[in-house]
Amino acid sequence: MTVNLHTHTYHCGHATCTPEEYVKRAIENGVKVMGFSEHVPFKFPNGKELDSHLQMKDVPLYFEEIKQLREKYKDQIEIHIGFEVEYLPKYFNQMYEQCIKMGAEYFLLGQHFVGNEEPWGHWVGQYQRPKEDLTEYVDLAIEGMKTGKFTYLCHPDVIDATNDMDFYIKENTRLCKAAREYGVPLEINFFGIRDNRFYPFDKFWEIAGKVGCKVVFGFDAHDTLAAFDRDSIPVAKQIVEKYNLTLIENPKPVNLI
Ligand SMILES: [Zn+2]
Ligand SMILES: [Zn+2]
Repeated sequence: MTVNLHTHTYHCGHATCTPEEYVKRAIENGVKVMGFSEHVPFKFPNGKELDSHLQMKDVPLYFEEIKQLREKYKDQIEIHIGFEVEYLPKYFNQMYEQCIKMGAEYFLLGQHFVGNEEPWGHWVGQYQRPKEDLTEYVDLAIEGMKTGKFTYLCHPDVIDATNDMDFYIKENTRLCKAAREYGVPLEINFFGIRDNRFYPFDKFWEIAGKVGCKVVFGFDAHDTLAAFDRDSIPVAKQIVEKYNLTLIENPKPVNLI
């Protein structure tokens, strides 16, 4: 695996190690293209920011650090700077314009919340979300993909709303068909694999395979070791083979401008 566009830094408050340690680990393991995709910074009109995102005050440092690394290691690795972005319909345009000004090159779509936007709704990663959450999650993910600004959809199977499997299949078929229609690949998320999370969820990938979706791999690194997560690669490959998915081995960041 020589391309990974999904990397966090200590700036989000729930990842460790310096960005340089991530870069070194990636280079040592043959990664050729690496993207930093910190959780997007955004200040709501009420002045609130979310703890687990890059804070506005740290934006200059985030870009400075990564630009320095890009220059320092330019002969060994191609480094991109972007964000993992929550799609918030009311604020997306504003967020997008701000990120362009900051110098962001690409967006990954990572939908972790549903519900009201000020300051945030509720997290979808809890067990057994109700049907309404699944519908809202799928609606938001589709609307986000439709903007054409996202390189791929991170952990599309993050929401555990599987009480009614027929409903799960129906809604996720809708999501997968939209991903195919808008040409947005779906990420098999390695954080889910190494952390034994609910996702990757088999049934989801079975649906994605039937619909004919394209997939990418993302380390979703929150520590140095995961900047090359060797152990999860065979698990992800097995999913690709089992469900006849089309793997894009060298995804290119979709330019934001
Ligand atoms: Zn995420
Ligand atoms: Zn992430």
